[in-house]
Amino acid sequence: MKKRMTGAFLAVFCLAMLFCGCSGKEAFIEYPGQGQTRPENESNRIQNYTYSPVEDGVYPYNAISGPEQLKYDNGVLYFFNGNPSPHEKSGATLMAFDLARGTILPVCPDPLCSHDNPSCPFYGFDTSYYAVNGSIYYRRGYHYLVYNAEGILVDTIDHADLVRYDRSKEALTVYEDYDGEWTYTAYSSQLYFDNWQYYYDYVYDPDTEKHYFHICKRDVDSGRVAVLGGDLNEDAVYERFLFAYGSRIYATDGKQFFSVDSDWNDRRVLFEGDFSGKILFDGSEVFFERMISDRKILEKTRLDDGEVTNLGVECSRWVLTDHYIYYLSADPFFSGGLELTGGEVYRCDHNGDHVEKVCTLNDDGSDKYLGSMCVVDNYIYCFFYEYKDGEQISYRDRLLRIDATTGVKMYYNIK
Ligand SMILES: [Zn+2]
Repeated sequence: MKKRMTGAFLAVFCLAMLFCGCSGKEAFIEYPGQGQTRPENESNRIQNYTYSPVEDGVYPYNAISGPEQLKYDNGVLYFFNGNPSPHEKSGATLMAFDLARGTILPVCPDPLCSHDNPSCPFYGFDTSYYAVNGSIYYRRGYHYLVYNAEGILVDTIDHADLVRYDRSKEALTVYEDYDGEWTYTAYSSQLYFDNWQYYYDYVYDPDTEKHYFHICKRDVDSGRVAVLGGDLNEDAVYERFLFAYGSRIYATDGKQFFSVDSDWNDRRVLFEGDFSGKILFDGSEVFFERMISDRKILEKTRLDDGEVTNLGVECSRWVLTDHYIYYLSADPFFSGGLELTGGEVYRCDHNGDHVEKVCTLNDDGSDKYLGSMCVVDNYIYCFFYEYKDGEQISYRDRLLRIDATTGVKMYYNIK
């Protein structure tokens, strides 16, 4: 299991955080460090926990952004505690917040596991991951030195692989053992559809002796991979899959919006326009952002005629659910000479109407702003940051839940 660690591999661990920037009534719950406790039972439930499902979800076949810290799948909110490191035995691991039960526990099922050595399925966990139908898909990588009793270096352990962890079976499947090196970093978006995992890969062509970016698909059960078409390039993937609908996959090259069949053939252009930003589908309409004079504006279009409607919403970041568009205000605020956005959270309906202010982040006088944001039912889950004395403080040990109907905030301590 000796491998060379590449800069590209390390870069995966240095993914840029997404910043955006809450308050109102505030409550604080001390969750007393029971995160490492299994089995799940009454004693490790969050005290005074309440949850009211309203069945406001997201269309399941949008492409998933791997680096987003918070992921929702089948009643569970996933996130990692701390920052997994390929070099340190950090013990950081993937956590599961069961929203109905009110428990926060490691996904690793071993109650005695310290999550800091290779016997843990989540050791060396890459912070870019995908949670789909009760399985977690992720890369692992670690590098450490082994010394004997005399303090002499006897071995160097380097390992990197691509795996699936099935939670119901508690089973780890290794799809690929990288017997060389990770050669590319554009591993940021995947589409899961009809038992297939669509992803971008850097594939070696023996004829030209070069690597090319390809769109690939993997059968998640058998692990079998098919290399598909797409706009082949040595430097980057220009084509981007967005979502699956019916039996077709919808994608863009930034200028055209088109659909292809499940093997990336039979390309049909639907319409043209600027499709370089975030794009999400709600099962009937396509929502996208467009930069107009440095302002991010939300628009939508139907699949059949491509007629574009401006929603009249300006924002810095946004999330789509069945019933709402949640977005962070584009209005800047200033902290230590830095201009930050996302100080206020709003929501509106899919036509851009019935705008409600959900909360203000900084009404406590701080300079807090939101990191990754995930909306389930009427709750916004997020991590937050703060600028203090010119320094960014990361509160990765506290998960914030905002009740969108009342503005009440709850902080859950993550141990
Ligand atoms: Zn573990």
